Amino acid sequence: MQKAAIGVDLGGTNLRFGLVREDEKIISRRRTGTMATEGVEIVLERLTSGIQTLAMRAESMGLEIAGIGIGVPGIISARDGMVRLSPNLPGWKDIPLRARLEESFPYPVYVENDANAYALGEYWFGAGKGAKSMVCITLGTGVGGGIILDGDIWRGADGMAGEVGHITVNPDGPLCPCGNRGCLERYSSATAVMEMAVSAASGSGKTAIKSLLRNGMLTPEAIANAAKKGDRAAARIYSEAGKYLGIAIAGLIDLLNMECVVIGGGMSGAWELFIGPLKEEVKARAFRIPAQRCRIARGKLKDDAGILGAAGLALKKNP
Ligand SMILES: [Zn+2]
Repeated sequence: MQKAAIGVDLGGTNLRFGLVREDEKIISRRRTGTMATEGVEIVLERLTSGIQTLAMRAESMGLEIAGIGIGVPGIISARDGMVRLSPNLPGWKDIPLRARLEESFPYPVYVENDANAYALGEYWFGAGKGAKSMVCITLGTGVGGGIILDGDIWRGADGMAGEVGHITVNPDGPLCPCGNRGCLERYSSATAVMEMAVSAASGSGKTAIKSLLRNGMLTPEAIANAAKKGDRAAARIYSEAGKYLGIAIAGLIDLLNMECVVIGGGMSGAWELFIGPLKEEVKARAFRIPAQRCRIARGKLKDDAGILGAAGLALKKNP
């Protein structure tokens, strides 16, 4: 009997489900709003109902369900399947997510931090395939990270490892909501790109960013498109983002000597705009041997990385 697992990406806004067959294909999907502001029980109901739908589909296809994996933002205790705290999900404090779902389903349940699930997705099924050590960096609203060492997620003593976005890349840089100054996230996230664009628009130079801002059409994609068409100010923003990302990655390479770095998330669409300055910093700063060995790759799975990584927890750990 062929196996499958249900992978879930529980985000602050969207709840996405995928039925993943052991040949790594997502054969069925479901997407709904999380309704996070309605409270924990409503989210749990929506979660249960989505899983139920895919479980029934799997049965009708004659697939054996190996388990359910869920990626959740925030501080997760993966060992006991608890959500300790999730800033994106109001009311989620010490919620025994695994225990709650095991009341409804006869399958093993795996709970993992969403950035870790994303990293595992790219590691098992995407750009990190074949490596044994990898750092995954996601460039979105914030900058997320996941570290895989010798095939396992490195969680750290408090389950909080992998916060690549809050590495200091400039000691005197702008204040970050985390309390630190000059965090990577303040330079290389979509939020940072937007802020740098707004500040560029207030300058005297000629740039397409000014009209984008005036017409309410300023987005990271629009800035990237302007840069690709030769807008110097727009290009400089992405080159800054790449430079600081390179500074952080150089440090990670010297620290971990990992085989690859996978960069995913929405902003990775602007790859050609930031990869040059990123690699220059790595070359200038990191030790030569580990820097040459480290493959820096663009994520392959996009939005599916989280679902695939979560499902992989059941498929790979419960073969
Ligand atoms: Zn920070």
